[in-house]
Amino acid sequence: MVLNYKKFLEKNTYHSMNDLYNLARQIKDFTYNNDVQPTDYFKSIVETKDEFVVNFSFNGDKIYKIKKDEVKNHDIEISVDEAFYNLDMLFNQIQSYLHSFNIQQIDESNGSFNKEIFIEFYHQLCKDEKVNPIPIKFKLVGRAGGCLVYDNGTKIPLHIEFDINKVQDIEYALYHEFAHQICLIKYKDPGHGSKFKKEFNRINDKYMYGDLATNYMKKILK
Ligand SMILES: [Zn+2]
Repeated sequence: MVLNYKKFLEKNTYHSMNDLYNLARQIKDFTYNNDVQPTDYFKSIVETKDEFVVNFSFNGDKIYKIKKDEVKNHDIEISVDEAFYNLDMLFNQIQSYLHSFNIQQIDESNGSFNKEIFIEFYHQLCKDEKVNPIPIKFKLVGRAGGCLVYDNGTKIPLHIEFDINKVQDIEYALYHEFAHQICLIKYKDPGHGSKFKKEFNRINDKYMYGDLATNYMKKILK
């Protein structure tokens, strides 16, 4: 078997293109859910139809373009492992930065979070959008502050997880995961593509700052 350059790069690595793509998606998800602001080392992560463009810096700017079958740094193809290693490091930095920020915020606010009313709010959204509610779990979520768990084969949404200590804006996070739930039901699509963006924007515009949400959020964050 003859390996082309792409195959060669992928063969000699611990991580697959799929791992890398998923990592980029996790970073994107995390920055969405936590409203991560650009810093010296993290500039942006943008998802287009068929690629992620990550702009970050460890001693000099790196712009990674991750497609399904290749990764480029400033238009030069690089190994999957190198990209994975660097993005993983970036992700750790984003998280540790955010973690210290969150701890500060929790200490200062000294507030409580009403899980029961939060779930009630979610059920109300489901009723309004005519979808069946799925269980909401509050737990430590691996890398992101929120996460929708679905069956990979059937694409049926199973439950939603929130790590309320990590999520800065729980209302935004709820709309994000709820939009995933709707996209899985409607299109069997778990991604962050144009369908997701459209659905998220629709939900966000419809409810954020509306009377229903404002009243619930007041009670939830009392
Ligand atoms: Zn997401």
